[in-house]
Amino acid sequence: MSRSGTLGGQPGPQRAADRAPTPTEPARAYAELAAGNRRFVSGAPRHPNQDAGHRAAVADGQHPFAVIVGCSDSRLAAEIIFDRGLGDLFVVRTAGHTAGPEVLGSVEYAVTVLGTPLVVVLGHDSCGAVQAAREAAATGVAPPGHLPAVVDAVLPSLRRATAEGVDDVDGIVDIHIAQTVETLLGQSPVLADEVAQGRCAVVGMSYRLAAGVVRAVTPAPAGAATFDAPGASDDPAASAAA
Ligand SMILES: [Zn+2]
Repeated sequence: MSRSGTLGGQPGPQRAADRAPTPTEPARAYAELAAGNRRFVSGAPRHPNQDAGHRAAVADGQHPFAVIVGCSDSRLAAEIIFDRGLGDLFVVRTAGHTAGPEVLGSVEYAVTVLGTPLVVVLGHDSCGAVQAAREAAATGVAPPGHLPAVVDAVLPSLRRATAEGVDDVDGIVDIHIAQTVETLLGQSPVLADEVAQGRCAVVGMSYRLAAGVVRAVTPAPAGAATFDAPGASDDPAASAAA
């Protein structure tokens, strides 16, 4: 039996459309992501901004409140894990959340043209791109095709991890997240200026695949509360990353 009751062409009862606010400054945007991840983790998502009415409302223009520069991993779906909908998140994903020219240009577009107040670099535990880079570095064997482009983008983080005595994958992931934040700011004077003016913040976060919990890897924007999704404090990596 159809849960929606719409398969026969007759619309079933619709729950009231859920709306969620669109923050315009970094700390508030950060809080909205934290609230959405709390809903997702607790098994009580609201799926806001996903109905037909909202789809029509945002067709003429978008004002996303966060850019997600995330890993492409299929389990890291931004709108799901932050419990948001259409027009909320400007998502740029590559394997290993690399920061090449197309990524930088996409981030700059969102921040300067769309006025997005928050950029989140989103990594995750057991990242395959980081593991591939680690393997390539250990064996000296480059992967086939265009995969070296991904591996090469992760290698600076790997070298930094080695210098800091970090050799577990999830520890390297945290360093790579922080490194990607620094790369975005270092390679994009436009973005750095937006941050300096207080119009935007760039932060790093990491997602745990099994728990669904997002935790902060780099400091919160000025004036923002800690990213405190339930279970984050149970995460042994959280204290190490603090
Ligand atoms: Zn990954």
